[in-house]
Amino acid sequence: MSPHRHPTTAVQVGPVQIGGGAPLVVQSMTNTDTADVAASVRQVAELARAGSELVRLTVNNEEAARAVPAIREALDALGLAVPLIGDFHFNGHRLLADYPECAQALAKYRINPGNVGRGEKRDSQFATLIELALRHDRPVRIGVNWGSLDPELVARLMDANGRLAQPASVREVTYEAMVTSALESARQAEAIGLGRDRIVLSCKMSGVQDLITVYRRLAERGDYALHLGLTEAGMGAKGIVASTAALAVLLQEGIGDTIRVSLTPEPGAPRSREVEVAQEILQALELRAFAPQVTACPGCGRTTSTAFQQLALDIQNHLRQRLPEWRQAYPGVVAMRVAVMGCVVNGPGESKHANIGISLPGNGERPAAPVYIDGEKVATLKGEGIAEDFIRLVDQYVVAHYATP
Ligand code: SF4
Repeated sequence: MSPHRHPTTAVQVGPVQIGGGAPLVVQSMTNTDTADVAASVRQVAELARAGSELVRLTVNNEEAARAVPAIREALDALGLAVPLIGDFHFNGHRLLADYPECAQALAKYRINPGNVGRGEKRDSQFATLIELALRHDRPVRIGVNWGSLDPELVARLMDANGRLAQPASVREVTYEAMVTSALESARQAEAIGLGRDRIVLSCKMSGVQDLITVYRRLAERGDYALHLGLTEAGMGAKGIVASTAALAVLLQEGIGDTIRVSLTPEPGAPRSREVEVAQEILQALELRAFAPQVTACPGCGRTTSTAFQQLALDIQNHLRQRLPEWRQAYPGVVAMRVAVMGCVVNGPGESKHANIGISLPGNGERPAAPVYIDGEKVATLKGEGIAEDFIRLVDQYVVAHYATP
């Protein structure tokens, strides 16, 4: 059952709604040089095709600001309407003012309140950014990051804490600084005229427990739409597990309206892996369905051959390959569950819980593979062509059950 969602104000980013009870939105970020139009278009297209519903790019200098409209145009020409978000630090007020075509081509601006400017310039540059968002009718994300927390705010909170009879720990003051930075900046933006329906907040940290603590407080103290993500999650299994651990706890508590998984790609690995992981997290929590799921047993001493691993892989690949076409013709197919099990110990039981499932013969078992469809045994496959026969049954199931009336 889906968890009850923390109520937030809806924010419209182009055609995509964040918060206000809308389905959780998956987003990602490029790591190309934004000024390199061809490379950036290629990567945004890869991310969008993988299912990223919003894509953020850094807009760090004039070349990048000049490239953004060209990137938008090229994506439109490819038929990819994915909204682009500009990530601004320090010079955003100037770039957005000097390059109005860039400001228009972006669907949202991300502002880090710790990197807007220092001293007296901070407030005026922040105000300029908000006025530019108003002029171009764009929402903003006020994205606090603990690696770039506003030093003046931290000093102020540390001083106040030092005067207490029982001062809080540095960690506690950091949590407060994160939440205060986001909420004070949001209120400043609102005072300038930006509606709450134009503001998304985030407070990214790299520690799982830190992130959970900060987002719980953020959710408690307001109804702003929230962007969730563990920053600098890391590489490989560590990055995936840490992101999943943090996001799962918060999402289960109904906190979060859009997510990004910040993985460091391994050399040569596709950037879109972070999109796949974000989708897997949402699907595992039953918050959204993106693709049919294959339940496969881990195998054990009863499956010394690799036949069932191969079948699980073949099925997975077949589903992935057919999915783009199926999504169009059979939209409900994203919720289909397929079981591929190694023997008859748990195989038939697991198969009965899936839409369609097969149990391959384990060591010493009869060379026959029972197939269950919607809880009923419908066939027993034998011989060399078990994999092909089962894939055929899966295809037939999809056509019979997910065709739109
Ligand atoms: S289903 Fe059979 S092969 Fe798979 S892990 Fe369980 S006992 Fe082992």
